[in-house]
Amino acid sequence: MPEVVIIGAGVIGLSVAWYLTERGVRSVVVERTAIGAGATAWQSGGVRAQWTSAENCRMALESQAFYRQLDDRLMPQVSPQLESCGYAFVARTPETMESLRRDAAEQKRLGVRTSVVDAGRLAELVPGLNTDAVVGGVYNGHDGYFARPQAVAPAFARAARRAGAEIHFGTARRLLLDRAGWTVELANGVRIVASDVVLAAGLGNPGLLDSLGSPLPIGRAPKRMFLSRPRDRCLVRPQMVFVDEGFSVKHLADGRLIAGHSPPGGIPTPDPDVGRGAVETVGPRLIATLEGTGYPWTIDGYYDTSPDAQLVVGAVPDHPRLWIAGAMNGRGMMLAPSVGRMVAESIATGDPEPIPTALQPDRFAGRESVTGETRTI
Ligand SMILES: Cc1cc2nc3c(=O)[nH]c(=O)nc-3n(C[C@H](O)[C@H](O)[C@H](O)COP(=O)(O)OP(=O)(O)OC[C@H]3O[C@@H](n4cnc5c(N)ncnc54)[C@H](O)[C@@H]3O)c2cc1C
Repeated sequence: MPEVVIIGAGVIGLSVAWYLTERGVRSVVVERTAIGAGATAWQSGGVRAQWTSAENCRMALESQAFYRQLDDRLMPQVSPQLESCGYAFVARTPETMESLRRDAAEQKRLGVRTSVVDAGRLAELVPGLNTDAVVGGVYNGHDGYFARPQAVAPAFARAARRAGAEIHFGTARRLLLDRAGWTVELANGVRIVASDVVLAAGLGNPGLLDSLGSPLPIGRAPKRMFLSRPRDRCLVRPQMVFVDEGFSVKHLADGRLIAGHSPPGGIPTPDPDVGRGAVETVGPRLIATLEGTGYPWTIDGYYDTSPDAQLVVGAVPDHPRLWIAGAMNGRGMMLAPSVGRMVAESIATGDPEPIPTALQPDRFAGRESVTGETRTI
């Protein structure tokens, strides 16, 4: 009998499985489609530590340190290769600059190496940057991107399996608790019994919680990005985020540019050509070298979200030894090592204490006053 059933073989469930093997705890990961086939398949590999909440900064630092040693720790078949290309946030109003400056000061206090930079430094980082209305920005050269982001989940899966975790393909339908522990019932009738269950099912978490009569305020938000054809020279090495315009762009390792534009209210229009038009118009206005870049491919995915834009990780209220690692709010890949470590530690000790209060699901019952995350672009 496994000690733990993890529902979902995305980057989060697989990280939990691997960290459990490090503590000698046996687990079975139940997955309804394929390894890394949920949101994990869509993410573009961004890894940054510039956040507004202390919890996210700390988790990001821990995760970046792990990812830098990924080849040694997980011994993957294909190395995902984390490249420190940097992340820059650009302000075009004094108010935005002030908030970036405040956040950078707090990040520095936490050990995140973010610098306040002027328009001249930003133009050195990105040739062709239109500095006319740029007030300044912040830059962290330690943030980066995976060259092969889709290799991360298989790396965790392979290492976890090698150390004794199992991956079982099937859809978890129902969770039942009795004196023997938890029974996870699959759609094909298979039942798996374990002492602990981890909900790491991404967009599938709300349905599983509803079936237990324990809903949590986890929703979904559409996320749309656009990809160009491969270009022969690198136009934008750091990830650039123009905060006031809601525009982001980055040259990926495979030669394509990835760009996004957040419309007012953050919800993409149903017609992707509207967003594509915005990206193709706004981009060259901000960075001249983007002139003429078309983005023929659309990525349409979803973030799993929470009202305070903070992760939902910890003990599910009123259900002993039921854990959740969800509502990644668009940052599950970059925080997966830290989330996996915290959940595995909590399971091993039976105590949710390693997980910060700000992430615990019981915050929605109003028992704690916690801060959310605001740098969500
Ligand atoms: C367009 C886009 C770009 C992104 N870019 C980044 C980025 O640059 N950096 C970053 O850190 N994050 C990024 N993200 C967010 C990131 O992809 C997610 O936060 C992360 O992949 C979440 O991983 P997960 O394991 O929680 O969920 P998922 O990867 O969705 O995994 C959940 C798994 O559970 C399975 N499942 C669901 N229900 C059941 C069930 N009942 N039984 C069995 N299995 C079930 C699903 O099939 C799925 O495989 C991006 C997301 C999108 C959409």
